[in-house]
Amino acid sequence: MTAKYAVFGHPVAHSLSPRIHAAFARQEGVDLEYAAYDAAPEDFAAAIHTFGAVGGAGANITLPHKERMVALCSQLSDRAKRAGAVNTITRAGASWHGDNTDGAGLLRDLTERHRLDLRGRRVLLLGAGGAARGVAPALLDAGVDSLWIVNRSAEKADALSDALGEPGRVHTRYLADLPSLGDFELIINATSAGRGEGLALPFSLASPRCLAVDLSYGEAAISFLAWASAAGCTHRIDGLGMLVEQAAESFATWHGRRPDTDAVYAELSARADALHTAD
Ligand code: NDP
Repeated sequence: MTAKYAVFGHPVAHSLSPRIHAAFARQEGVDLEYAAYDAAPEDFAAAIHTFGAVGGAGANITLPHKERMVALCSQLSDRAKRAGAVNTITRAGASWHGDNTDGAGLLRDLTERHRLDLRGRRVLLLGAGGAARGVAPALLDAGVDSLWIVNRSAEKADALSDALGEPGRVHTRYLADLPSLGDFELIINATSAGRGEGLALPFSLASPRCLAVDLSYGEAAISFLAWASAAGCTHRIDGLGMLVEQAAESFATWHGRRPDTDAVYAELSARADALHTAD
């Protein structure tokens, strides 16, 4: 019987995950079905339950449900526990095992695809939602010097900082403090602000050799990456590579082998470039 996989989000119509997992499955000769389900927050738990009842084997969880999924899992990987957020679930008897592949995906994209060294960098993390929670522990493990978390809702930034448990290296500040924070060698936009009006950021945040990363991709990444260009950031990277790498990690968890990501990344990048050229 064809194994059932899916992505759950709200909204989810824009998700590239079905296309990515179908490409990995073709490459690896795996027979699977991968659907996208839109579930509003109040319907999410029931949707996951129904998916399990119809034989769902695993799923990706995306915005805005990653933190909500934690409570629906009977087991969590260490990285999901540290993140307090789940983006990958695998059936475990009548319940789910929760994992978080976002941090590993980001690191693989930055250090292997783009050959960047993150060690010793002063890092600004904008946002404290599910994506920020996923990448923050991985950045600390990668040897960054310090991590400054700034979020619109200060209490979420504080909660993330508390969960990370490294008061000497992790600091939180308000959005209004940005002009007085000095400059950074890595700035990560982990907000979804680019889907709306974007963020108003001072140029003083970017050091001369600053690396700017937007976890969003496509239209949603345009305003932050344009700011990074104007601020003189030497490297500007969107979230497409991370998306493909975190999907490969999920695929490896479910199917026991890691697909080659280069061909899928090249195809999605070419498609994105063609769309922007057509604009
Ligand atoms: P969440 O809904 O969990 O969090 C959204 C975050 O954005 C919160 O910190 C929120 O602040 C902030 N935010 C939203 N609107 C604004 C605004 N107008 N001004 C300032 N801050 C704002 O979403 P996720 O964390 O799951 O996703 C965030 C982004 O990362 C999305 O664009 C998503 O597509 C991308 N992403 C990319 C991945 C990849 O593989 N490339 C993987 C995961 C996510 P507040 O807490 O105050 O509401």
